[in-house]
Amino acid sequence: MRPVYLDHHATTPLDPEALDAMMPFLRGEFGNAASRTHAYGWRAAEAVESARARVAAAIGGEAREIVFTSGATEANNLAILGFAEANADRGRHVVTAATEHTSVLDPCRELRARGFDVGVLPVDSDGRLSPEDVARSLKPETILVTLALANNEIGTLHPIAAIAMAARERGIACHCDASQAVGKVPVDVRRLGVDLLSFTAHKLYGPKGVGALWVRRATPRLALAPLLFGGGHEKGLRPGTPNVPGAVGFGVAAEKAAGRVFEESLRIGSLRDRLERSILGRLPGVVRNGHPAERLPGNANLSFEGVTAEAVMEGMRDEVAVSSGSACSSASVSASHVLLAIGRDERLAHASIRFGVGRQNTEKDIDRAADAVVREVTRLRAAEPARTAERPADRRIIEWSR
Ligand code: PLP
Repeated sequence: MRPVYLDHHATTPLDPEALDAMMPFLRGEFGNAASRTHAYGWRAAEAVESARARVAAAIGGEAREIVFTSGATEANNLAILGFAEANADRGRHVVTAATEHTSVLDPCRELRARGFDVGVLPVDSDGRLSPEDVARSLKPETILVTLALANNEIGTLHPIAAIAMAARERGIACHCDASQAVGKVPVDVRRLGVDLLSFTAHKLYGPKGVGALWVRRATPRLALAPLLFGGGHEKGLRPGTPNVPGAVGFGVAAEKAAGRVFEESLRIGSLRDRLERSILGRLPGVVRNGHPAERLPGNANLSFEGVTAEAVMEGMRDEVAVSSGSACSSASVSASHVLLAIGRDERLAHASIRFGVGRQNTEKDIDRAADAVVREVTRLRAAEPARTAERPADRRIIEWSR
């Protein structure tokens, strides 16, 4: 039996309908969508344009507002670096949050190296920013606010609509990384009132290697500088031969995910609650990370007092696939910047496991995973009682675990 897959924030399995739609473009329909002189190219271009319309509709946008990219990392880079470079004459201040994904934080760091001023805002203990927090950080020279709709580790949702409105009132653009949100919670770009929105196919049961930046159509046109040059594809914003099968799979997966978002979020949310109840009901000393209500329905991020996440995951590697709040780099294992930003100490950050419930999961999966977690944490705590006892119990931990 394969381990229960509970790592849907990392990636999702490819939807069979998306795969079926892609297959012709991996076989006979090999045309280059940029070939304007023959039927092979025309058919490929038609497929890309039909996918563009589907991808746009999934977020309440228009086809002409979609720029296909290789994923959300590229979309975030294009939004942040591209917007800042093209609007630097209006100001050189950009605002983001400490809990953002590295594909937002790293381009922001690059902006600093290019002489921009970047405000990295602290979040509250649930990982949230209020519109007032953001408004206070804005300066006359601020040009862009960039924030995720849903955090990829703790699932916390930012109140983006209110934040975008506070920015817009001051003539400041808002970019939203919605990679973890599209297909998981309803996303409508008009309701959010943002100017730029990134998302990616492989987080919503589409293929890897394709994503999109939605760019609000405005008069005058939103100024965006390309990161790459050559070929003029995607209105010159993202040159390169289009990924036809990828776009087709993205279109089908996005349409399906958005179309069933209400029923799926309810079902997945109740599985996540079952998992949390089962673990918290049987184990003391568990801290829940993230906002209790304003978070992704499939997300549970739990820190287990007295053990390391690595040891728990190793003990249940044949039964459950999850990820931890530690990031391995070649030289060291560093604690998650998100967990540190919400006030967890290094010890609790290294004791955190991220569970991501998804479309295929069943109650049986959840029970099997919860049993394995409870067994492993109990076993490890019993094996190392001295180390556990050395650590004084944190009052907050005990309260959370009830
Ligand atoms: N933004 C967030 C919030 C993510 O979770 C991820 C993926 O881990 C990305 C961006 C990057 O997406 P991609 O893998 O498509 O580059």
